[in-house]
Amino acid sequence: MLKRTLCEHLANLPQLRTASQYVCEECVKTGDSWLHLRTCQTCGVTLCCDSSPNKHATKHYRASSHPVIASAEPGEQWLWCYVDEQMATY
Ligand SMILES: [Zn+2]
Ligand SMILES: [Zn+2]
Ligand SMILES: [Zn+2]
Repeated sequence: MLKRTLCEHLANLPQLRTASQYVCEECVKTGDSWLHLRTCQTCGVTLCCDSSPNKHATKHYRASSHPVIASAEPGEQWLWCYVDEQMATY
């Protein structure tokens, strides 16, 4: 039987980081548009998600290895770990 691996990134998050401003910090520089926003739980940058054209949140993970993002969308309360591909709510 496969045992479900626990994600220590989600289990050991120090505190929740929320979006400081409601924009994708990369898209605003180039004037691009975005759909949904995610906040990196390591450095606090807010970036656009995979349904946005630029997918900046995923690019940020690939470049930085910062594992956990939180949805910055109003009413959404979830976290996602890219490494373990696990979701958690807060
Ligand atoms: Zn993890
Ligand atoms: Zn973006
Ligand atoms: Zn980051």
